[in-house]
Amino acid sequence: MRRMNRTFKCCGCGHCCLKLPDAFNGCVSDADLERWRRLGRTDLLARVETLDLGPGNRLHTAWLDPETGDDVERCPWLLDRVDQQGYLCGIDDIKPDHCRDYPEHRQHAEATGCPGYQGNRPTDIKQRPQRGKD
Ligand code: SF4
Ligand code: SF4
Repeated sequence: MRRMNRTFKCCGCGHCCLKLPDAFNGCVSDADLERWRRLGRTDLLARVETLDLGPGNRLHTAWLDPETGDDVERCPWLLDRVDQQGYLCGIDDIKPDHCRDYPEHRQHAEATGCPGYQGNRPTDIKQRPQRGKD
């Protein structure tokens, strides 16, 4: 989920967080890790694994189950709104760069099912997914 600009308004539908695996089983950046280290967010860091692929080539994969090391099937920071009308990001102020930057532009939104640009419609959800049924 992302911030607003003049043509984009995130409706909090949760489509990107729930349906796009890159959102919750992708890579986070060096800057993300540095931000979380600076803030002492060991809970976030515990859900990231760094793969050393050679000199200057490291990948930080997220999010993992800190107990098992397995990939999660839903972002652990995604919260249901109290009114059950959508979702909120529980780490919105410090969320990964790739979450901040989504969608990159209208065409990206259209191609991936984000309804945030006026006129776009979600392509992959008919109704709000229910916890435990999706
Ligand atoms: S899919 Fe688009 S409108 Fe829906 S939560 Fe994500 S950014 Fe917001
Ligand atoms: S960190 Fe926040 S914005 Fe990113 S996938 Fe999770 S709930 Fe969505």
